[in-house]
Amino acid sequence: MSLDCGRKPEHPEETHANSTQTEDHPCIAWSGLSRKIPVLVFHAETVVSKGGEFRDIGERYNLAFKIVRTESRLVRSILSSHGFHEVHPNSNDFNLMWTGIHLKPYLLRGLQDFQKVNHFPRSYELTRKDRLYKNIQRMQQVHGFKRFHIIPQSFILPSEYQEFCSSCAKDKGPWIIKPVASSRGRGIYLVSSPNQIPMDENILVSRYINNPLLIDDFKFDVRLYVLVTSYEPLIIYLYEEGLARFATVKYDHAAKNIKNQFMHLTNYSVNKKSSDYVSCDDPEVEDYGNKWSMSAMLRYLKQEGKDTALLMGQVEDLVIKAVLSAEQQIATACKMYVPHRNNCFELYGFDVLIDSNLKPWLLEVNLSPSLACDAPLDLKIKASMISDMFSLVGEFCPLQSTIVLRFQVNYLLNIVH
Ligand code: ADP
Repeated sequence: MSLDCGRKPEHPEETHANSTQTEDHPCIAWSGLSRKIPVLVFHAETVVSKGGEFRDIGERYNLAFKIVRTESRLVRSILSSHGFHEVHPNSNDFNLMWTGIHLKPYLLRGLQDFQKVNHFPRSYELTRKDRLYKNIQRMQQVHGFKRFHIIPQSFILPSEYQEFCSSCAKDKGPWIIKPVASSRGRGIYLVSSPNQIPMDENILVSRYINNPLLIDDFKFDVRLYVLVTSYEPLIIYLYEEGLARFATVKYDHAAKNIKNQFMHLTNYSVNKKSSDYVSCDDPEVEDYGNKWSMSAMLRYLKQEGKDTALLMGQVEDLVIKAVLSAEQQIATACKMYVPHRNNCFELYGFDVLIDSNLKPWLLEVNLSPSLACDAPLDLKIKASMISDMFSLVGEFCPLQSTIVLRFQVNYLLNIVH
């Protein structure tokens, strides 16, 4: 968080004047043309280090946060170790609000210029499966199907039943059925024939990608962390590290296995229930068990002769196009409800499946991606990612470990066209 947004009553300008500007504090980077704007730099190691050497920084600027309707031990731990103090969820006296739910318009309208919240209004345009699909479909119609062929062909039932039936005539399946607004693999199953699909529920039916790229015969998907700090102009950051999550049963697309969730779904929340789930206790080992770091997965693929640079280029393209598909609706909502330019930011969890032709497919965008740290690798990756996120949210200064995807919308569309 930029310290010049510091909470009253400490006026930051006065605070600077009192301190030496060249002060060498590990939590402050001086920014701006005359290097007068202090930017708070967060350090992931504070989560594990016992010493309180970074605490004085939040205390000095009287920074406060509140956590609402979510259990976020990691966020609390990082903020507290930088000297932020926690206020009651009902308090208005905060610099940062971290919430598990969307904010009501009246709460957004009441934000002051130094306050930040971790959601944009109408983010569900990206994070609800049916809305994401509709927005991408619209982009396909406007900009060409091929350019936005980033999600598996999908239908919302029962409203698109006719279209679905004509597609079934050409494509025999299998199909994957998903509740429109769910997560963690809940309510998801595969069907081999359309007459197995219930017609009385609101569901999303997607073509099942039955040629996933396999590692050691196991299916996996990738969790990517995408930070949007502004929708107008659109500023997107893709965190350089992610997680590869493996199924617990070897992949075999024979129809008899269609009900085996441990083979077809890669969610951690599904596979951790399997007796075959293997976790790894060593944070330095990133390619063992059912959860790898994304970079370990990419190293593995590179050794196998795969063009991982091309793959990641396509992944970046997919991320940008997905966010663009909801950009207008969210930017409009910001104009209506958000009083100050920098009030909102959002961390999205993108789930991507890579097929055997090395084409990445967007499966879904998660609102409030899990920050649970069940394994040491989770902590290592997520603590650095969250620390970088908080550093970026203040001054938008690119940090070393973050790939910066900064695009004005028009510029990108020129590339897309
Ligand atoms: P949820 O929000 O419940 O996690 P997802 O859309 O991420 O729903 O799907 C859960 C899992 O199902 C994914 O992690 C992936 O392994 C598998 N999956 C989802 N859609 C497809 C698809 N179209 N083709 C192949 N596998 C899929």
